[in-house]
Amino acid sequence: MELEISGRWAIVCAASKGLGLACARALAKEGVNLVINARGNENLLAAAVELRSLAPSIEVRTVAGDVSELAVREKMVMACPQVDILINNAGGPPPGDFRDWQRDDWLKALDANMLTPIELIKACVDGMAERGFGRIVNITSGAVKAPIDVLGLSNGARSGLTGFIAGLARQSRLAGNNVTINNLLPGPFETERLHKTLTAAAEANGASVEQISKQRRENVPAQRFGQPDEFGAYCAFICSAHAGFLTGQNLLLDGGSFPGTF
Ligand code: NAP
Repeated sequence: MELEISGRWAIVCAASKGLGLACARALAKEGVNLVINARGNENLLAAAVELRSLAPSIEVRTVAGDVSELAVREKMVMACPQVDILINNAGGPPPGDFRDWQRDDWLKALDANMLTPIELIKACVDGMAERGFGRIVNITSGAVKAPIDVLGLSNGARSGLTGFIAGLARQSRLAGNNVTINNLLPGPFETERLHKTLTAAAEANGASVEQISKQRRENVPAQRFGQPDEFGAYCAFICSAHAGFLTGQNLLLDGGSFPGTF
């Protein structure tokens, strides 16, 4: 299927690895020009080289830095001639027990996983509406639908974002001007982050990473972890010209893990 977004410009946050990079790859293959971001410059530059080799006709610009910093977000927006597509992403907050968290831990999580995407949306969305095309995808987590107790900071901050987006996406000023905003909720995808989570679980349970990994895979009806490129392909479709009627949704990609009917 031709996605009809060739020549458009996208900002993809937190995109030197994992799900962010997979979204950037899928957009690059569709001929979308990219501004990509991550904190570590070396991996970010390597990702840009890979993306340019995948799609030699596109332009790929890099902005290194923490996406939760205003100056970094401003640089990303400045580096993008016009933001047609915005993929919001950042690292997830650490696991733990809420009894140990201080106000500062909450503020960090809220900043990275709720306020940062809202600020980027604010910077881009009215221009999208004026031009009559905009696609915003927030990478959140399956934990928004089925909370994971040790990920309380993530459950809380991402649910805040989800509630806000539910209202914003339905503004007729946006939806009526072909600007869509959706959340993509990953279940377990094979990335560095998943590997770290599995290693921590193995240490906590005195088991090997292979044992924990096998157990987790067997809990997924698909009997496997998701591949980042599957996530990227879905994201690219949501950003396509054909997805203008799809907005305000929480789209779960979890191999059937969530046990509910809806
Ligand atoms: P990953 O493999 O660890 O990759 C994270 C990427 O984000 C890296 O490029 C990293 O580069 C960048 N990054 C992290 N914090 C950043 C920040 N503050 N500013 C800019 N860039 C930042 O992680 P992932 O698995 O792709 O996860 C992406 C998001 O999906 C996370 O929020 C995660 O919690 C969520 N998620 C993932 C899964 C899963 O199974 N993979 C499941 C549910 C939810 P630098 O470190 O160089 O900045």
